[in-house]
Amino acid sequence: MRKLGNQENEVSRLQEQLSAAEVVIVGAGAGLSASAGFDYTGERFSRYFHDFGDKYGFADMYSGGFYPYQTLEEYWAYWSRYIWINRYQNPPKPVYNALSELMQEKKYFVLTTNVDHQFQRAGVDKERLFYTQGDYGLWQCSKPCHNLTYDNEEQVRKMIEAQGFVIDGKGQLTLPQGVRPAMSIPTELVPYCPRCGKPLTMNLRADDTFVEDAGWQTASERYTAFLREAQHQRTLFLELGTGYNTPAIIKYSFWRMVSRRPKAFYACINLGEAYAPAELGAKAVCINGDVGEVLKALADGEHV
Ligand SMILES: [Zn+2]
Repeated sequence: MRKLGNQENEVSRLQEQLSAAEVVIVGAGAGLSASAGFDYTGERFSRYFHDFGDKYGFADMYSGGFYPYQTLEEYWAYWSRYIWINRYQNPPKPVYNALSELMQEKKYFVLTTNVDHQFQRAGVDKERLFYTQGDYGLWQCSKPCHNLTYDNEEQVRKMIEAQGFVIDGKGQLTLPQGVRPAMSIPTELVPYCPRCGKPLTMNLRADDTFVEDAGWQTASERYTAFLREAQHQRTLFLELGTGYNTPAIIKYSFWRMVSRRPKAFYACINLGEAYAPAELGAKAVCINGDVGEVLKALADGEHV
């Protein structure tokens, strides 16, 4: 087990719990996507955003997303690249597929704060999925005057191509040799609300203007029903890469349910932040490691 040598016991304990569990509830945060290679800084940032970085002095995609651009044409030039590479392009490493395979024989449900849609891309049925914080692939009215969301793939593709990028057959965003991308999109591609005419915006939970559309409501109800059904079943709460940005959604709720449910067990896999409260005692295992590495170790172990 590469990089996990000193945690073999923990991985074995998790493996036992996984095998014995009747139900698995996965809670996934940013660390899972980071492990899949969705790096928001470094080489990936410079490859797609060095022009914006040079102009405005930021060095990671998050900061660029918050920058107060003067025009919507420039805002969407930035955001269309961001959306494409983090939502419509495959991740560098198949960590989501590994998780999906590991869950194949299980009855499971996924609760996630990730907005990059990678569970569905890896084949997880949307009926087993509750993405609480939104989706890079959806837009909503910025007011909002109504609570529908809009798929953005086709429009984002047009914005990307208008900047000089090419999207290859595999969905990979590339820039032809010698081309300098435009840093704004044509005005006619700026998206507006079809009802009130205000600009459309990302369907991401940043404040109370977040639209919880019908898909969101249905997923929320499915999750609640799944939890209720699992109440007396042997349940593994498997937390992957969840940090302390929004701990109430997954982490604290998992701790509370595990402490109240006699047949529940809590596992936390997180690089640098693997922790469980002492009161969970023997009902918890923490593995301080890269999520992808641990999933691989679990998958390898199952086939030994
Ligand atoms: Zn509107």
